Amino acid sequence: MDISLDLAGRRVLVFGGALAARRVLARFLAAEAIVYLASVTVDGHPPERPHPQVRPVEYPHFPHGWRDLVSAVDLVVLVEVSESTERIIVDACAAQRVWLSREPAASVAPLGRVTLVGGGPGDDGLLTMAGVQALRDADIVFYDKLSPHDRLDEWCPGAEHVDVGKTPGHHATPQADIERMLVDSALAGLTVVRLKGGDPFVFGRGGEEVLACREAGVPVTVISGVTSAISVPAAAGIPVTHRELSRVFTVLSGHAPLSENELAHLAGLGGTIVVLMGVGTLPHLTAGLARHGMRTDMPVAIIEQGFSSRQRTTKARLDTITPLAAKLGARSPAVLVIGEVVRLSQHDDAASEELLQAIAGNAEHALNAEH
Ligand code: SAH
Repeated sequence: MDISLDLAGRRVLVFGGALAARRVLARFLAAEAIVYLASVTVDGHPPERPHPQVRPVEYPHFPHGWRDLVSAVDLVVLVEVSESTERIIVDACAAQRVWLSREPAASVAPLGRVTLVGGGPGDDGLLTMAGVQALRDADIVFYDKLSPHDRLDEWCPGAEHVDVGKTPGHHATPQADIERMLVDSALAGLTVVRLKGGDPFVFGRGGEEVLACREAGVPVTVISGVTSAISVPAAAGIPVTHRELSRVFTVLSGHAPLSENELAHLAGLGGTIVVLMGVGTLPHLTAGLARHGMRTDMPVAIIEQGFSSRQRTTKARLDTITPLAAKLGARSPAVLVIGEVVRLSQHDDAASEELLQAIAGNAEHALNAEH
């Protein structure tokens, strides 16, 4: 149910197989309801064992038993019942004025599946509706540090949450292990979500995880996310393109320094340059671009910790951003933007402005001294 009700201590009666109803049972248990499960054993199938906290109840043996059964609870939930049984239950609930809800069944296929979900840049509002739905259906979620994982208990209650946390720069769980865990969980029949920051295919190693699933014969889908490359500049009021100012935007990883050849092409291309994971290589990049002819007064912005209460924007020029970033202690995660569009930012930080004046003065001194 999408309506949030306080179900703590309420009696909830679920109709359906233990396996098909497992997500529903997990959600109600997480809401601290008293959960009953009424399921019929299909001939030839072994009885499914529900969660130990779920109390099994039998189908009534007599027609009038249905009313007694539903009137003993606060809420009846239909997951999987035959049409004729559904009619009986609906009538009994109407007669006894008991709330009734229908919930989709979880997959009972022996082979599970993996969904890569792009979690956006950290703001819950920028997680897609498809992403939220995938989380709701998940038995197990493997999440990254930069993904919006604070509310997993709310989005997928009762699911297993596994932190494969990647702090910028180093991978807590080796990539090969993550891929093996995704595949093994799906092979065990689970509905798996891999929750990532931003978009799974933008420097997120999502492509490798998709290939690993395909190779293992595990069905895999991808739900795109809002990438930090566009949204974090936007959070600082910087559009990556702007009519008559920039008609190209290049997104690059600053994880490793660019080659001379790459720097030359990048400087020659024009437009906006957006750099992820670029704080460490900022001095190399700015010096390289200047060496290859980019104007030294080209505006540059660093936006740290976008969408958090600690979001900070630092603006300077190509020749002053490196010392300013060092002085201010700029740190990852941050998005760098190089280009005229930076002028459109709403940011106006007096403190860094002052520092900037001092640094610009020093830079001029240094230049004059060279001549
Ligand atoms: N797949 C992600 C990027 C993964 S690489 C995406 O599409 O956004 C990780 C880098 O993304 C970080 O080092 C940083 O450069 C950037 N990043 C992600 N979230 C950020 C945020 N909230 N604020 C600033 N930078 C962020």
